[in-house]
Amino acid sequence: MPASIIDGKQTAEALKLSLKKTIEVFLDQGIRAPGLAVILVGDDPASHFYVSSKEKSCASIGIKSFKSILPASASEDELIKVIEAYNSNPEVDGILLQLPLPAGLKSNTRNFLDTISADKDVDGLTTKNLGRLFTNSPETIYPCTPKACLFLLEKYGIEIEAKKVLVIGRSELVGKPISLMLNQKNASVTMAHSKTKNLEKEVSEADILLAAIGVKEFIKGSWIKDSAVVIDVGINSTNVKLEDGSLKKKLFGDVEFETALKKASWISPVPGGVGPMTVAMLLDNTVDLYKRHLNIK
Ligand code: NAP
Repeated sequence: MPASIIDGKQTAEALKLSLKKTIEVFLDQGIRAPGLAVILVGDDPASHFYVSSKEKSCASIGIKSFKSILPASASEDELIKVIEAYNSNPEVDGILLQLPLPAGLKSNTRNFLDTISADKDVDGLTTKNLGRLFTNSPETIYPCTPKACLFLLEKYGIEIEAKKVLVIGRSELVGKPISLMLNQKNASVTMAHSKTKNLEKEVSEADILLAAIGVKEFIKGSWIKDSAVVIDVGINSTNVKLEDGSLKKKLFGDVEFETALKKASWISPVPGGVGPMTVAMLLDNTVDLYKRHLNIK
């Protein structure tokens, strides 16, 4: 039997609707709207696309958007000033610095992230928040993509406790935080990376496989354990040739979807899996920070 689909798009829409209703209740009481500030440096088309889709999502549920676009030539001081202005703006609950930063600023990414006030750190990526995550603090603001993965597993009733989980990828954005979060849910987690030996064997033993690599269809369906659960975080854009000879951009995951479908019990597709849920989690974190700032439950 083919795997069942973990539908991130539908789950995200349902969550957005519930957030919209929550916000409406506060607005009806004359309380200000939640605010999300996005800072974009440079002219990377993919980053501009992500930022405008985040803006649209905010507008669709009643979150007020703030946006600063800086040129790729911006200095460190200019970027820090923009972050600090949002830190002290009482209408802003969450601040998101769109990554990756352009070449001139990239090596100092950690410093810029840590300039964001930890209590406005909507992406959960400041050192303080990562520390909260590490210590399982109730104050933790969970990074959006790992939170999206966990949300989907729980929403679909997939058991995590005592399961053998393989996370492929160890980035600060995805692999490390999700490994820790699944460990906190009592899974036995292995974190694999580019130096891992015999990845195929590791994959074949995992009850839950989470791929965050960034290489199109790198994991073959034949490697996957029968009835395993597959969460594909990868987003790999490739030009595919259409029948009329023209080229069209298509998104692929890190897992070979068609063959994995035959082995897995559950699988999140690309597109339509973790991607839309990541945006929904950004909105969820914004509303969470808003409630904390206004001291409302
Ligand atoms: P990243 O920082 O480039 O990390 C990639 C990880 O994959 C690294 O830890 C790397 O190992 C590992 N890796 C690379 N080649 C490998 C191989 N051959 N075998 C095993 N491991 C290998 O990427 P990221 O930011 O974590 O993102 C990963 C993917 O998720 C990308 O496709 C990205 O676009 C996507 N993504 C999606 C969302 C979403 O909303 N769905 C959000 C964020 C990211 P080393 O550490 O040894 O180099």
